[in-house]
Amino acid sequence: MQMHRNVINMNFNELKISQPVLKAVIEKKYETPTPIQEKAIPVAMSGKDLFGIAQTGTGKTAAYAIPIIEQLLNKSSDCQVNREKRFIKALILAPTRELAIQIDESFTDYAKYTSLNHVVIYGGTKQKSQTDRLRRGADILIATPGRLIDLINQGFIRLNNIEYFVLDEADRMLDMGFIHDINRIVQLLPKKRQTMLFSATMPKSILAISKSILVNPATVEVTPESSVIDTIEQQVYIVEKPQKLNLLVEVLNMRLDKSVLIFSRTKHGADKITRVLNKQQISCAAIHSNKSQNARQTVLNNFKAGRIRIIVATDIASRGIDIANLGLVINYDMPDVAETYVHRIGRTGRAKNHGMALSFCSKEERTMMRDIQKLTGQKLPIAKAIA
Ligand code: AMP
Repeated sequence: MQMHRNVINMNFNELKISQPVLKAVIEKKYETPTPIQEKAIPVAMSGKDLFGIAQTGTGKTAAYAIPIIEQLLNKSSDCQVNREKRFIKALILAPTRELAIQIDESFTDYAKYTSLNHVVIYGGTKQKSQTDRLRRGADILIATPGRLIDLINQGFIRLNNIEYFVLDEADRMLDMGFIHDINRIVQLLPKKRQTMLFSATMPKSILAISKSILVNPATVEVTPESSVIDTIEQQVYIVEKPQKLNLLVEVLNMRLDKSVLIFSRTKHGADKITRVLNKQQISCAAIHSNKSQNARQTVLNNFKAGRIRIIVATDIASRGIDIANLGLVINYDMPDVAETYVHRIGRTGRAKNHGMALSFCSKEERTMMRDIQKLTGQKLPIAKAIA
């Protein structure tokens, strides 16, 4: 995590958050707010719209979740009155199911000592358990755009009581083609609301959407779009395509102590790498969008719990996924877009841990390496070939 700490660190008490939330944060063993939390929480608690430029891994979920919880608690007398009939008052939109689940887990942590309810909905899985939970009532809804629109169309969800709206990983949403869904959802929200938009990068399209949904926002920025977290050691292997699998096996055998996330450009490629590694007794699993949601979640849970050491993923896993103590990211294929490199390797070196990122670059991929160096302003060290 990139730290721009003040000389004297602020503590959570100074953010004037309530006892139940403070207790939950202490239980999570957070000692001091991260820079995005330090900057965003006071502004967001005042009800102002917020434009947050921050990557996942900076603590941005708490930066918007805590202010939402706090403001809902302040209004909890209304909630008490409406106990039998809860209305959804906060909506958090996330681009992927994995991120939505992770945000939901964060709300479970931070709102643990409150009576607030939250529900997460996402596609790729049967809707019944989600609609059952919705029927029981929720204060906070975390959703991916497609399933949200689907359940709105079926009459399970109404957005006319939303007071807090968060668009998380907005740049990723646009990359994934969600712009029309977002516009539709925004049209269903009350005009009077607090909106917070978080994005890791700031292309023109994000500026445009921020202008259309935010009113007089405060801008809070912690990680410039090109910055590589300084706790990550990076190296590039110059290797031709047919030799990549051999190199991978050697690298993995040299780093048996590390949990590893391998990025492949295609689903087919991810499956092939997984097959070859498993054949070589290097046990690993793949996650990509052809796998069912349950299969993906099981793999991630096993990985997080240390039961699987290696996963092979397409870029669906490059953002939003928070895996503590991930020691090594391998770019088996160089990413097409330089910014993706920053996001991919940002899965390691989190929360002040040392991380390592190795990239396999073939002749055809040299331009990508140049693009990455241009974006990050760093020369990527070339690794010595393994004999
Ligand atoms: P996020 O960027 O919200 O995905 O958070 C990344 C990771 O940082 C998660 O594992 C959080 O639990 C952790 N985290 C969030 N805030 C803090 C904090 N103030 N101190 C230490 N870890 C934190």
